[in-house]
Amino acid sequence: MRIVVLPGDGIGPEIAAVTSSVLQAASERFQLNVKLEEHAVGHTSLQKFGATVRPGLLETVRSADGLILGPTATADFRDEQSGEINPSKYFRKSLDLFANIRPARTFPGLRNRFGAFDLVVVRENTEGFYADRNMEQGNSELLVTPDVVISLRRITRFCSERIAQAACKLAMRRRRHLTIVHKANVLKIGDGMFLDICREAARAYPELVVDDVLVDAMMAHVVRRPESFDVIVTTNMFGDILSDLTAELSGSLGLGGSLNVGADYAMAQAAHGSAPDIAGRDVANPISLILSAALLLAWYGERSGDARYEAAARAIENAVAAAIQSGRATRDVGGALGTAATGQAIVDILRSDMAAASVAAH
Ligand code: NAD
Repeated sequence: MRIVVLPGDGIGPEIAAVTSSVLQAASERFQLNVKLEEHAVGHTSLQKFGATVRPGLLETVRSADGLILGPTATADFRDEQSGEINPSKYFRKSLDLFANIRPARTFPGLRNRFGAFDLVVVRENTEGFYADRNMEQGNSELLVTPDVVISLRRITRFCSERIAQAACKLAMRRRRHLTIVHKANVLKIGDGMFLDICREAARAYPELVVDDVLVDAMMAHVVRRPESFDVIVTTNMFGDILSDLTAELSGSLGLGGSLNVGADYAMAQAAHGSAPDIAGRDVANPISLILSAALLLAWYGERSGDARYEAAARAIENAVAAAIQSGRATRDVGGALGTAATGQAIVDILRSDMAAASVAAH
């Protein structure tokens, strides 16, 4: 499996380096022969090549089996004509990665005010309230006068149907409960259509329990009773906001894994941003990107039918859980370690598991 790694900005290089070493350890343990190939993106690429995403990078990415994109300083990139492309948007759009899968779960040993839960936000990823996603040319925010802005949201039957299908299939593999999150009481046409399409898709799965919640009420419900949710499907912006909340409810934004999936490609990406406030200080939690990389391995295993990738993904998740439980983690999750030492702890656990497995085999 060949994976392109684009470290990104801010804390990106720190958490990408750690994620690469965890992947290498998992690759050795399960004899996956994973090849990691690093390229610049974001500010480094802008300085070096005059564009945050240099020409030709998309072809390099496409030729690989998967992509790991670190967080980038999106807010800094304003003028595409000057090479300031939002890499996250660029790859999601160019590779048509329509489903953003964002699991959030609690971990044993990690204090959490709201009790144990295990849910997944399935977020539509290619349209919605994202001004740079919706148009063939230009974007969907209009400056009417210097004091008046109109921001448009696009919702299509095609994109709603495919995200609804993805969510139903995932729910069938889990606890068979699908919650549709929307604002159809106000966005009666757009979210009304989204809600109808999700309900219609779910009718093909009679074993699914289906309910729906207004997005504003969802903020209260998910805080009050996160354990009662399984798979949550929603539109792009709502899913972005909700999944940061669910990651934080699980213990930290730094725990939020995220996989962007299309028909034949997937990109692992942390749920959080480039966190410039803590960049370069060896304090960022690398677990979000590590768990995202594990999701990428599992996706590849399912596609290729090679169970070792799924096993490697589970082993990484277990090693992360063991590191958290034993306090070998960053401060945001109650530990006292830096980014690199947290990664090393996860690698050590993966390797010691390997030792235990080989002892057991003899
Ligand atoms: P952020 O997600 O980077 O940070 C929010 C808060 O969470 C900060 O206090 C930060 O220190 C903390 N945090 C984030 N990740 C953490 C981690 N791994 N470990 C510990 N603490 C962590 O959001 P922001 O500060 O609003 O945005 C910073 C930049 O990131 C902006 O340019 C924004 O546009 C960009 N951004 C990029 C992506 C992406 O690349 N996918 C996503 C969101 C934001």
